[in-house]
Amino acid sequence: MADRKRILITGAAGFLGSHLCDRFIKEDYHVIAMDNLITGRLKNIEHLFPLENFEFYHHDVSKFIHVPGKLDYILHFASPASPIDYLKIPIQTLKVGSLGIHNCLGLAKAKGATLMIASTSEVYGDPEVHPQSEDYWGHVNPIGPRGVYDEAKRFQEAMTMAYHTYHGLDTRIVRIFNTYGPRMRLNDGRVLPAFIGQALRGEDLTVFGDGSQTRSFCYVDDLVEGIFRLLMSNYNLPVNIGNPDEISISDFAEEIIQLTGTTQKVIYQELPVNDPKQRQPDITRAKELLGWEPKVGRAEGLKRTYAYFKSLTPEELNEKDHYDFDKYIRK
Ligand code: UDP
Repeated sequence: MADRKRILITGAAGFLGSHLCDRFIKEDYHVIAMDNLITGRLKNIEHLFPLENFEFYHHDVSKFIHVPGKLDYILHFASPASPIDYLKIPIQTLKVGSLGIHNCLGLAKAKGATLMIASTSEVYGDPEVHPQSEDYWGHVNPIGPRGVYDEAKRFQEAMTMAYHTYHGLDTRIVRIFNTYGPRMRLNDGRVLPAFIGQALRGEDLTVFGDGSQTRSFCYVDDLVEGIFRLLMSNYNLPVNIGNPDEISISDFAEEIIQLTGTTQKVIYQELPVNDPKQRQPDITRAKELLGWEPKVGRAEGLKRTYAYFKSLTPEELNEKDHYDFDKYIRK
């Protein structure tokens, strides 16, 4: 159909990107999915390949992006997103957040498209205010291990606002808090796949530090709804999207033990450097502006997510990882 809206989604084969592809297909958009497949996997989007309104570009957005035809929207969601990933590929993380967004913004300007960036609660760093509202400027160590991700995302916000201010580009900034759901990579190192993977493999659950640090976990369907509403709004300043239901990591481990029925125990390991002590989104802005709030509670969300991980084959469950970072690292 010629009059379909056309959207480019970078990082489309990743966890969030693939759910966004599904949503915009459901909305009858023409979806152009782009991914370099370093951390994304085609399995997440292969069900969309037969559709006439879906196409896939295997491309690294840190390099010049060419997309023929009109574009109405661009969602820049490409980036390694878990602490162990961006520790393994720090330079790629910085490049996708800097060169990648510059390419996306240039493309958006050329096409007259509205552009949204996936920002993050990490722009608040190890926060000194609680909960975190969009007005808080953050507490980030630029040269710490998380700096490569945090500063790339902060640069992305600055660059996006500059294109908005100086070029009049229509832009959106969503600050995403911890999100979970089906298609998270089992070995990406984040706490939920780590714990569920350990439970399924019969290993002990590794809590880092004393487990008193907190996070607030949002189910992916809620996040996607928030993103969709923000994109359809005309609001250009950052908006937090996340679930304010906060829990300590040790209590979270207990919930996973209950959920999975594992007889394994919790073991304590060293806390990673600059690991934020507490995190909870203030979602007043999203509520007022978008009429959005999360609907899926943790019990329900975890049940759905566990069902997904349980459906993985033994090979998938024991796979170390599907990609080879070394290929991408210039020695
Ligand atoms: N964490 C943990 N055990 C693990 C993985 C993570 O205790 O096996 C902790 C981690 O130190 C952090 C929290 O769980 O305090 C959330 O970590 P994650 O990597 O999921 O994301 P973050 O919110 O830190 O970016």
